[in-house]
Amino acid sequence: MPHPILERLVSNFTRKDQKLEAMAEFYAARARGGVGLMITGGFSPNNAGTLYPFSSKLDSSVEMEFHKVVTRRVKESSVGKFYEYPEDAGAGCYRTLPMQDFVSDDEDEEEDYKAKICLQILHAGRYAAHPYGVSSTESKSPISPFAPRKLSDDEVQRTIQDFIQCAMYAQEAGYDGVEVMGSEGYFINQFLSPRTANPDHNLDDRLSLPLSIVRGIREACGEDFIIIYRISLTDLIEEGKMPWNEIVELAHRMDEEGNVSIFNAGIGWHESRVPTIATSVPRGAWSWTVDQLKVSLLYERYCYIFLFCYDSYYCFDCIIEKKSLPKLQTPISAVNRINAPQTAEKILSNSSADLITMARPFLADELFPIKAYHGHAEYINTCIGCNQACLDHAFVGKTASCLVNPHACREMRFNFKNVDDSSNTISSNYKKKRIAVIGAGPAGLSFAVTASKLGHDVALFDKSDKIGGQFNIAKLIPGKEEFYETLRYFKKHLDLLNIHTQLNYDVNNENMEEIVSSYDRIVLATGVTPRIPAIPGIGHDKIVSYYDILTGTFKDSGRTLGKKIAILGAGGIGFDVAEYVLKYKRSNENDTDRGDDARSIITANASSLSPAESVDPNKFYQEWGVNVERHGEINIAAIAATQVAEEKDHVDIYLLQRKSGKLGATLGKTTGWIHRSALKRHGVNMMPSCKYEKIDEKGNLHLSIPDGDHKNKSSKIKSITLEVDNIILCTGQEPNRLLHDSLIEKYIQKGNNDEKNVYMIGGAFKAGELDAKRAMDMGMRLAYRIHEDQVDEKLLEDQPELEEKLMKTLK
Ligand code: FAD
Ligand code: NAP
Ligand code: SF4
Repeated sequence: MPHPILERLVSNFTRKDQKLEAMAEFYAARARGGVGLMITGGFSPNNAGTLYPFSSKLDSSVEMEFHKVVTRRVKESSVGKFYEYPEDAGAGCYRTLPMQDFVSDDEDEEEDYKAKICLQILHAGRYAAHPYGVSSTESKSPISPFAPRKLSDDEVQRTIQDFIQCAMYAQEAGYDGVEVMGSEGYFINQFLSPRTANPDHNLDDRLSLPLSIVRGIREACGEDFIIIYRISLTDLIEEGKMPWNEIVELAHRMDEEGNVSIFNAGIGWHESRVPTIATSVPRGAWSWTVDQLKVSLLYERYCYIFLFCYDSYYCFDCIIEKKSLPKLQTPISAVNRINAPQTAEKILSNSSADLITMARPFLADELFPIKAYHGHAEYINTCIGCNQACLDHAFVGKTASCLVNPHACREMRFNFKNVDDSSNTISSNYKKKRIAVIGAGPAGLSFAVTASKLGHDVALFDKSDKIGGQFNIAKLIPGKEEFYETLRYFKKHLDLLNIHTQLNYDVNNENMEEIVSSYDRIVLATGVTPRIPAIPGIGHDKIVSYYDILTGTFKDSGRTLGKKIAILGAGGIGFDVAEYVLKYKRSNENDTDRGDDARSIITANASSLSPAESVDPNKFYQEWGVNVERHGEINIAAIAATQVAEEKDHVDIYLLQRKSGKLGATLGKTTGWIHRSALKRHGVNMMPSCKYEKIDEKGNLHLSIPDGDHKNKSSKIKSITLEVDNIILCTGQEPNRLLHDSLIEKYIQKGNNDEKNVYMIGGAFKAGELDAKRAMDMGMRLAYRIHEDQVDEKLLEDQPELEEKLMKTLK
């Protein structure tokens, strides 16, 4: 799978990057990593089409000039033909970014393989988050604050010209082509689908918009210019989706006209209530859309062959396999939740996709293609589909990055340029330090790997028998199977970087002496401990913390979970635990609280595959009401009714919080709705505004709650008792700083007067609002700060940017 496509990344480089230099460095790093074709984030062809006020557009020669640095940096940095590392270098090359020394010298040979870069033209239409949005009708989207203005026919023609002009600017700026965004519910899609299209328009009228845009760009930009059309292969909306025969007709006409260079599959509108890219979506879950389009296009062209066929669908399958018909002109790329080389290879060999497109996996690891090419997939830092640092950032006006790779989109500030070469020796400008890290959770791991890559001697200690801290229990949550990959990545890199790792090593007052005397710097990354709230009766036998459920200590103590359960605390962990209990109660009563490796539960018959690879997509389609046979028609309501009824037979869950307002408000911006909707469909009772009065001698929970609307402050309060079998505590965490004071004391006694050489990161630093994103980010930042001898606690956390503040104010 050489040179995959890097799909547009909504990176939201800030106003500070008006000259697009940070964006240029970002794409240059991916070009060095061996990406074949890159597509930038969306640029609007005019003011009305921007996503937010003052967001990216390309409609003037002034803006065009800024793009030149992007295309130049990509060309300069492209590796050309995949370079061969010296045989003895092995995976050691991945210690730092790949070196240009390994690039082939043969200029001619390289040229064909050089990374290409296309600009995406994205008109937001009714998804514009400003009052000047325009569309095919005045219908307001459920996810936008403003209704659009309906465009007149003349204005539609002018907008087509704007798309063409934008492509011409892109060409002038040095881009190899453009991607025309015709999916995800944006402008073009709005003119095509019955939900939003002008009801007076017939099929020809509707299709004329994308056809005219693409035709116009081809005429203006010439034969060699790459035109990618992002075609919505399934809208995933319950009412008003574009009928399959019309999608096929659009693709057929485009294919016949021959102006499109590549079709890129688009899956689902932004307002769709089916997850399309979140962690819980199985890998490659949407590649069937490409198969179905190819089959239908073949039928369109060669239908006479199938006149006598009993079941045309399977007949086409067989014909594609035998490759007995001429190929379609336009290659099609599969997309969404393809995050591993083996998934991409499987799609390329088992389905009719010609190409693979990925976006987030290149945020997580810019060297993905080159690692895959050299057969070193196990060194890839895998995108876990969390959206926490990429899309969630973009939607609040913050520069995107990546939870598992906080370097992403900050290549100007954080890079390994001052490490001399792949032998990983530290540059003479910096002093090599011996650093001890206590705690191998996300914070400690991120620090250790970054500091080691920067050239320092790092030793890592953890009291557990495995690295990963809380990620070891997070990975057990259904839908979080990708978390295994992060642990695999770090394990591989600890070995690769020769980081002295000592497990089963509980650092305490007795053995601390040795660490203190052997290291110049000490990093405390000891994480958090679950909070036990002060509720009368909290010591009852029926009460258990999430930690004891997920680690299996609850079961080891001879107890089992009952049928009726109250979960106290509705943050990320409360929601996760509810899903965990639901899934295992349903799949196997006896497995509910086993707390051991989820692999055995999830992949009973697929032991050679990783847990994420073995998630069954059919269960996902069933869960979300997606009818694959009918090209992604959905019927969530019907599915929901059966799910609740089935669930109540197994388990009855009450999820509680003290705050008023909807539960799960602190969950991810782009994923919170998935968790809320899943629990709702499974009949979980969500109760805000609870006051926990006491737990009585039978283990029942006594509560005060508003009698009526909980949002109404004048509602009367009533007392209720929840007669439950168990209460699971998910009530937040406290920092684990047990070692901090004695460490500092011992450190100073040793003659190291500067107590600032003992640092805290991750949960040990601050437990409130801590997640793995912050933990890893802080680990990386501290590594650079220590490297540069510039530690200042304030600089360890990301500072809010102007856009982020602006968006908050607007909200
Ligand atoms: P920890 O992960 O707690 O690691 C601390 C490490 O220090 C542990 O390995 C521990 O053994 C070690 N240690 C402690 N004391 C000592 C000692 N004295 N000597 C030696 N070693 C010691 N976050 C997200 O961002 N996204 C999610 O989707 C997500 N899901 C989650 C789901 C669940 C069920 C849970 C429990 C957490 C989830 N989190 C998630 C939170 C995330 O896992 C934590 O924020 C993160 O692990 C904190 O990292 P840390 O390194 O600070 O601490
Ligand atoms: P959290 O999100 O802070 O939630 C803690 C919950 O406990 C809240 O609902 C809080 O709500 C309640 N609570 C706090 N103090 C309490 C007290 N003294 N008594 C009773 N209830 C109390 O923390 P978390 O759920 O433990 O998660 C830890 C971190 O991991 C979070 O940063 C979270 O984002 C991250 N995580 C993320 C995901 C994800 O999918 N992105 C999943 C899991 C975890 P009330 O005060 O209203 O009761
Ligand atoms: Fe993937 Fe999460 Fe990184 Fe986004 S933040 S690229 S979803 S790992």
